[in-house]
Amino acid sequence: MTTTYTPMIQQYLSVKEQAKDAILLFRLGDFYEMFFDDALEASRELEITLTGRDGGTDTRIPMCGVPHHSAENYIARLVEKGYKVAVCEQVEDPTEAKGVVRREIVRIVTPGTVMDSKALGDGANNYIATVTYDGLVYGLAACDITTGELYVTEAGGSLELLADELNTYRPSEIVASEELLGLFRGKAGDGDNVEGGGAGALAAAKPAVLTARSVTPEHEALLQEHFDAASVAALPAVSREGVALLLGYLHETQKRSLGHVKTIRHYEPNHYMIMDPFTRRNLELTETVRERSRKGSLLWLLDRTVTAMGARALRRWIEKPLMNVAAIEERLEAVDALYRGLIAREDVRMALRDVYDLERLVGRIAYGSANARDLLALRVSLAQVPSLVAACRASGSETLRRLAERLDPCADVHDAIAAAIGDEPPVSVRDGGMIREGYDAYLDQLREAGRNGRQWIAELERQEREATGIKSLKIGYNKVFGYFIEITKANVASLPEGRYERKQTLANAERYVTPELKEKEALILEAQDKMVDLEYELFAGVRDSVAAHIPRLQRLAETIAAVDALQSLAAVSAERRFHRPRVTDGYDLQVKLGRHPVVEAVMDGGTFIANDTELSEQGGSMLLITGPNMAGKSTYMRQVAVICLMAQIGCFVPAEEAVIPIVDRIFTRIGAADDLIGGQSTFMVEMMDIQIMTEKATPRSLVIIDELGRGTSTGEGMAIAQAVIEFLHDRVGCKTLVSTHFHELAHLEDSLRQLRNVCMAVKESGRDVTFLRKLIPGAASTSYGIYCAQIAGLPETIISRSYELLHAFEARSQLEGSAVKQAGGRPAEVKSGSESQASGPPLAQPQWHAQQQSSAQAQSSEPAEP
Ligand code: ADP
Repeated sequence: MTTTYTPMIQQYLSVKEQAKDAILLFRLGDFYEMFFDDALEASRELEITLTGRDGGTDTRIPMCGVPHHSAENYIARLVEKGYKVAVCEQVEDPTEAKGVVRREIVRIVTPGTVMDSKALGDGANNYIATVTYDGLVYGLAACDITTGELYVTEAGGSLELLADELNTYRPSEIVASEELLGLFRGKAGDGDNVEGGGAGALAAAKPAVLTARSVTPEHEALLQEHFDAASVAALPAVSREGVALLLGYLHETQKRSLGHVKTIRHYEPNHYMIMDPFTRRNLELTETVRERSRKGSLLWLLDRTVTAMGARALRRWIEKPLMNVAAIEERLEAVDALYRGLIAREDVRMALRDVYDLERLVGRIAYGSANARDLLALRVSLAQVPSLVAACRASGSETLRRLAERLDPCADVHDAIAAAIGDEPPVSVRDGGMIREGYDAYLDQLREAGRNGRQWIAELERQEREATGIKSLKIGYNKVFGYFIEITKANVASLPEGRYERKQTLANAERYVTPELKEKEALILEAQDKMVDLEYELFAGVRDSVAAHIPRLQRLAETIAAVDALQSLAAVSAERRFHRPRVTDGYDLQVKLGRHPVVEAVMDGGTFIANDTELSEQGGSMLLITGPNMAGKSTYMRQVAVICLMAQIGCFVPAEEAVIPIVDRIFTRIGAADDLIGGQSTFMVEMMDIQIMTEKATPRSLVIIDELGRGTSTGEGMAIAQAVIEFLHDRVGCKTLVSTHFHELAHLEDSLRQLRNVCMAVKESGRDVTFLRKLIPGAASTSYGIYCAQIAGLPETIISRSYELLHAFEARSQLEGSAVKQAGGRPAEVKSGSESQASGPPLAQPQWHAQQQSSAQAQSSEPAEP
């Protein structure tokens, strides 16, 4: 048995050694070949034929290949499936090579480092993240190499916080030490270990690809070299290590400098509202819980951005609501001006219309992969800046005026591109046709020579037709033979002997050349070659000169993105009748006639019933919501959270009036069948969430618990529910909304000062129940029937008699010691003309049915594009 591979396979194996975790594309002539296990895997994934090759040993080596000109497409497909792909090229001219041609890996494409792929999508960033740990604190660095953004933070020693932060980026690749990666691979939080909550959340944030790497001294050196000293020095050690690791990995895979990844955006997690991954999902911020679609999410509703970078900025805003009142007010001020100033808003939108994705254009310029069309797109975008500046100035907004000052039109860059690059350049940068006439004298000369040559040939054609009398004589060109004179078979006989030299015979024509023609051809082709080379050189020169302005262009892109996001918020706010919230550093929350913006938007036709909310020190900071299923409890609770979040991103809110205190954290515990992880019971998941909640909630937090205490026996569930409520009430003091099936808990209103019973009004007639979706004081009980009778306009005598009787029944059942089955609390007193009544639409019976139907429709029908 022979075990020595051929030299080529030996070379392959030594290259493969440098990219063990990637599929290696090994350049052989016009193909990229894959061997061994890579071939087995790639042939399956790409559905290409698996063949074999003799490698010098007894067994054939599995092999498959893709043509080099269509390789990008195959690479992208592998990366989308979560593979890494290493591209190995021939790095010396095969005709000059002694022995096997030298080959090297020129780049490694991974899910976190794709520069160009249809799968990237314009509206979302594609992050690669590193995680580091110094024994006390976790460091996190997240970078989008297509735009150059780099965010860095520390998550303390908390796995939950790390998971929360990672979740805001949803990286497609995480690089960390083998040991830390164990956390992501871990069995999503073992059921019998409450601390598993963080690991469970980490597993939920699990990206497509985990890459094991550790930081080296070379990485550290690279870090010092790449970034400015001050911003590196400002980082805590654990994050410095993370950025070094990130940079090192990017260098290793991209094998080029990343001139656009220059700014380190370091922040503290608590500068933004914190939400765990489940809360983000429950509130359907960027995708829906069920279909996981963007459609039907808050982002979908709020996104009226015009540019790709605006769309990404808006997404980041939604993922990271602000905590600083002044910063929020700044955004609100701009939204307000554009909300009222329809003309300014339209002007801003118009100016943004022709702005391309500057961030990614700049990324490609820095990367050296931009073509002439990219430079043209940059020029067109820059040309829009002056009108954007004017629109911002005219808006009357102080914030927009300040942003306008940062909008540098980069006229020098614009003019440099305009002078050099023509108006319709080709995609390829190697075929000429990019550079404008008059830009370079020598290029113009070469072009003139080319034109002259072609003219000369046209003239020759005319002369030869005349001389030979053959009208169909023509001069053609192809790549193999160059220029030739073609004469049809029928005319060959009339050709003077020896006039031309025969070159090629076709079925019905002969092709000839003359020494003169060949000479001219050489000149033309030489000029052509020179021209193409020179064009590339000139183009690269322009690209490099633009690259020198990357920081300016990035600042411009960032500012345009902010303007775009602001106009988007204004456009939706105006269209959907949102109102400006008053954001405060206080405690009390007040919402008058609030709506759930997305549920309302998808209802098409039906009327969303608005409800008030008060969570305050005086009026009670805890609501215990009772009512049957489908009554609207969960929608109401989510609506309160969404309104707070919208206010904190600087958007108007779906309410007539709103006073919103800064919320540091939103916790939601909303049961959904699909958040079962690792086969844990719903109850266990709930308890884990609640454990985190009790540990992390502060008085400034908003806590939402749907159906507290379900999933275990009634007695136990109720006991736990009460204990949790008491804990949040006595120890935490957070604003809390709790819904429960246990009407018995209503008695807590008597002992817990901050707790108020509320319920969703329901109208019963016989066996018919109609949901009114109106939040009313009091616990759900048979009394909601009386309430409904009252707002339906029954005589006051009947109403008061009904309450009287009800009290009597309840007193009797209590005396008899029977378990309190319905609400223990006093039925709500509802005065006619009270706020909650006045706030709803006129409630007439037929309309209740209409509401009921339309909401059922809304559930089943696809949400309409707003
Ligand atoms: P619950 O949590 O009480 O079971 P949901 O909040 O899930 O009820 O609401 C059930 C359905 O009722 C929702 O899908 C929505 O279509 C409709 N709905 C909820 N609140 C309102 C409202 N305020 N106005 C109109 N329809 C509503």
